[in-house]
Amino acid sequence: MNLGIAGRRALVCASSKGLGRGCAEALAEAGCDLVLNARGAQALEAMAEAIRTAHGVNVTTVVADITDEGGRAEVLATAAGAVDILVTNAGGPPPGMWPDWSREDFIAALDANMLTPIALMTALLPPMLDRGWGRVVNITSQSVKAPIPQLGLSNAARAGLTGYVAGTARQVAARGVNINNLLPGSHNTDRIHTLEGGIARAQNVSLEEARRIRQSDIPAGRYGTTAEFGAMCAFLCSQHAGFIVGQNILLDGGQTSATI
Ligand code: NAP
Repeated sequence: MNLGIAGRRALVCASSKGLGRGCAEALAEAGCDLVLNARGAQALEAMAEAIRTAHGVNVTTVVADITDEGGRAEVLATAAGAVDILVTNAGGPPPGMWPDWSREDFIAALDANMLTPIALMTALLPPMLDRGWGRVVNITSQSVKAPIPQLGLSNAARAGLTGYVAGTARQVAARGVNINNLLPGSHNTDRIHTLEGGIARAQNVSLEEARRIRQSDIPAGRYGTTAEFGAMCAFLCSQHAGFIVGQNILLDGGQTSATI
């Protein structure tokens, strides 16, 4: 399928690895020029060069912490108005137990996973609206549909973003700008391997056994791939997605057991 977005310019945040990288690769395959961001320069530059070679698109990189106001300003200065597609992403808050979370922990989680994507949309929606076309995909989490108890900080911050998107998406849709959220379940990324390490230590089992335990909960019987995740992101950014407004698309291999 021709996604109809060749030549569009996409800002993909937190994209040197994992799900962000999957989205960047799929958008490049669709012919988009990219602005990519991460905190670590080495992986980001390597990834940018791999994309240039594979897809022949223009790739600009910005080494910055997207959750920090100064870092975000650098990214926005580089992206400078001409962004047709915005994919928001950042690392998730740490796991823990509800009595241990302080006000500062909540502020940090809200800053990273709610207020950062909102700030990016606030900056980049106006030029999209002026041009009459735009797409925003926020990478959130399966926990938006069904909470993950030990990820209370993430549950709280992502719920706030989801509420914001539900209203805002409906305010901009008539002007050609579509905002939706992608909700990953377990995907084969560094973050999941860190979680497997935690299970292996807590249950005194091998990493392979920890992986088997996690995957046995997923009806598809495996983790998702970053390529599958990126393909859905690229579709939501495509010309064909103009009637998809304010949705929360779950990519979890069936793990969230719900009829609707
Ligand atoms: P990952 O494999 O650890 O990759 C994270 C990417 O984001 C890296 O490129 C990292 O590069 C960059 N990054 C992290 N924090 C950043 C920041 N503050 N500013 C700029 N770049 C940053 O993680 P992932 O699995 O793709 O997860 C991405 C998001 O999806 C997270 O919020 C996670 O909670 C959520 N999620 C993931 C899964 C899953 O199964 N993987 C499931 C549910 C939700 P640098 O470290 O160099 O900055």
